[in-house]
Amino acid sequence: VTASPLTFNFLGSGNAFCPPGRWWNGFLVNDRWLFDAPPSVLGQLNNLRMDTSDVEVLFISHRHADHFLGLPFLLMDWAYRSARTRDLTIVCPPDTKERLQEVMDIVLPGLLKREMPFKTHWKYARQGSEGEVNGLRYQAFEMQHVPAVGLCLGFRLEAGGRAFAYTGDTALCDSVFALAEGVEVLVSECASQADEMAIHMNMANIRELRERIDERTHILLTHLSEDVVADGLPNASLAYDLGVFRFDEHLLNPRG
Ligand SMILES: [Zn+2]
Repeated sequence: VTASPLTFNFLGSGNAFCPPGRWWNGFLVNDRWLFDAPPSVLGQLNNLRMDTSDVEVLFISHRHADHFLGLPFLLMDWAYRSARTRDLTIVCPPDTKERLQEVMDIVLPGLLKREMPFKTHWKYARQGSEGEVNGLRYQAFEMQHVPAVGLCLGFRLEAGGRAFAYTGDTALCDSVFALAEGVEVLVSECASQADEMAIHMNMANIRELRERIDERTHILLTHLSEDVVADGLPNASLAYDLGVFRFDEHLLNPRG
């Protein structure tokens, strides 16, 4: 049995401060599953020559501006330009639809009240929530970030026998290790090289993570500041904007 490839396309790889050469973090997996909607998301999907309607599932880790404020642009594109008809699923923290409505009422009033030619299925996720969309199974974890913006989530995903995970924004905590359990690729935030922050990880945290998780799990670092360097960390890469990371072979058997 040939495994289906796992392909990560980074729309952006920067932290909230959008350092030179790095738009805000967000990425697409297998051209169908979008992780976070940074303000630059529409422009970067267009730079990839992607049909934005190909996005089947959008995962919003939390509602900080750099992860969430691209959604109005996507909705605008789907409503007026790409004429999306494919149903969309949004997996996100509770109340995200209501908070989005408030944003839309200010920045693109009336758009959400239009009759859209596609359905949006909102899946509110909490610690331990599980679901499946067109063969993609997801599990949500509560991360340690900024509860004032609502629940902050990480996601563990499985499709076609391949498993990967995304930390969203978080400090190093038990959820990061739980997410990493048995996955081939862990997309992890690393918001700075050395700053100690109670809400983010730095390279010292990533080195600890590298030592404690399965050595076969590839760590893909994103949400980066300008000074982050991979520094010889084994089986790890730094994401870069419009960078493509393709994993053809099983790095490990998620069930074994
Ligand atoms: Zn954040």
